[in-house]
Amino acid sequence: MKGKSLENSSKWLLSALSELESTIASEYPSQQPPQSALRGLKRIRASVQQRMRRDLVQYQLIEMMGGACERCGDRFHPSIYDFHHINPAEKEFNLNRSNFNREFSKLKSEAQKCVLVCANCHREIHTFMEKQWLKLPWNDIMEGAY
Ligand SMILES: [Zn+2]
Ligand SMILES: [Zn+2]
Repeated sequence: MKGKSLENSSKWLLSALSELESTIASEYPSQQPPQSALRGLKRIRASVQQRMRRDLVQYQLIEMMGGACERCGDRFHPSIYDFHHINPAEKEFNLNRSNFNREFSKLKSEAQKCVLVCANCHREIHTFMEKQWLKLPWNDIMEGAY
């Protein structure tokens, strides 16, 4: 299921890229496309590759963490999951897409401080400050330090 949606997302990106490449090629059938078009294409190709790399990292981390929400037990599309730090004091960085270009070993060790939860459970954990899922310094909260 997850493998399939990764495959589909990669397929879609690659076909969109090749569609763009053939559109550019057909606009300049007898000559080399202008530098600006080639530069634009290069930029888009790089961002497609980056997106695919991030997707892959995201899927691998989700898979590694059991592939289901640890709080409600349900399974979702990969983009519905969050990596929640039980102890915010241990957090070095947020485990989200903007950081998925980091070294995989670093991501893995950060993931070990997290639980995999769906977006809804994640919101509830923080909204209701659920002690089971969130090791907060309660004394500080009571004293208004937070
Ligand atoms: Zn959940
Ligand atoms: Zn959280």
